[in-house]
Amino acid sequence: MPIFQPELETMPKPELERLQRERLRERFGVELEALSEQPFRVKSELRDAYPFGLLRVPLEECVRIHASSGTRGKATIVAYTRADLAAWADCCARALAAAGAGPGTVVHNAYGYGLFTGGLGVHYGAERLGCTVVPASGGNTPRQAQLLEDLGAEFLCCTPSYALAIADHISEPARLSLRAGLFGAEPWTEGLREAIERALGLTAVDVYGLSEVMGPGVSAECAEARDGAHVNEDHFLVEVVDPTSGDPLPDGTVGELVFSTLTKEALPLLRYRTGDLASLTREPCACGRTFARMSRILGRTDDMLIIRGVNVFPSEIERVLLAIPELAPHYQLVVERPGHLDELAVQVEGTVEPAPVREQLESALGLTARVEIVPRGSIPRSEGKALRVIDRRTA
Ligand SMILES: [Zn+2]
Repeated sequence: MPIFQPELETMPKPELERLQRERLRERFGVELEALSEQPFRVKSELRDAYPFGLLRVPLEECVRIHASSGTRGKATIVAYTRADLAAWADCCARALAAAGAGPGTVVHNAYGYGLFTGGLGVHYGAERLGCTVVPASGGNTPRQAQLLEDLGAEFLCCTPSYALAIADHISEPARLSLRAGLFGAEPWTEGLREAIERALGLTAVDVYGLSEVMGPGVSAECAEARDGAHVNEDHFLVEVVDPTSGDPLPDGTVGELVFSTLTKEALPLLRYRTGDLASLTREPCACGRTFARMSRILGRTDDMLIIRGVNVFPSEIERVLLAIPELAPHYQLVVERPGHLDELAVQVEGTVEPAPVREQLESALGLTARVEIVPRGSIPRSEGKALRVIDRRTA
């Protein structure tokens, strides 16, 4: 499968390290060896600097503004120079090419356009690659399905949960020309990947990013291996650290992802803590890219549920649910504290009795939960990032 920028994406490791070293010194005046002694940057600093306090160039040199959704407080504003946008488009073009797109591929982009980085990020990457972009944005799901059938899109780009919502509205699967999809912006499991592939008849590929670091395209899987997302290491230095102590962790160990931007002009960040939990591997990949790969996001440091002393991530519950064939990939977790103890209700669509599902959760995760099997269509479908957890403890 063609690589978009082979001279960079397959760069020999010693050359890549030399490039990273130069860029780190040039941007931050920091030596690679001294990186782990540098303080972390965290999301609250971006919020405190609202709106433009962390910009390193005059605002008039920025040609684009985006913002995070602000679901956990005030929005964080990010900005891009012309060069930042060009680098971002390159990274998204790499991601699409790695998933099998090329010049002329019809790409249906159902990520939301607007302040959210998903829509415009993927859009400019697809144009950079020479694809034919359908800028559908999110919303009006029946029309999305109609456009997919009528315009012959080969690629679908959106959140994994929205891909399933669109699949619900496909009236004639035989009319679809889809062959691959680039899905991201929320944690998802292998089980959900299989469900999407079955529902839409395509190969589902994972893309990762966050607005503070850039947006989608910080890393992406290759279609050859689909075994970890290649980090665009010429633009981003990646580390995994212990979420509690902050100490660097070796490859293969799960911890918190930390990124340093090597090329960004408007909003460079040294050692930004993402809150996302994953592990890294630098083993050679079947596709020939030399960039390190990160595992799926196993959870976020701030979305871990503690239910009666058991620590569990929503993605672990998803993994158990989707291994049960009688359950549909639509679920919601409701946490309450009616008395002194937390109670978890797992609501999932399906055609099975609750008891075996409860036993599976108990034996796989040591988790005591009330399981409610609900009829098809009763879990709300999202048009962007799915709301998987409803926490009524703080309400
Ligand atoms: Zn690869």
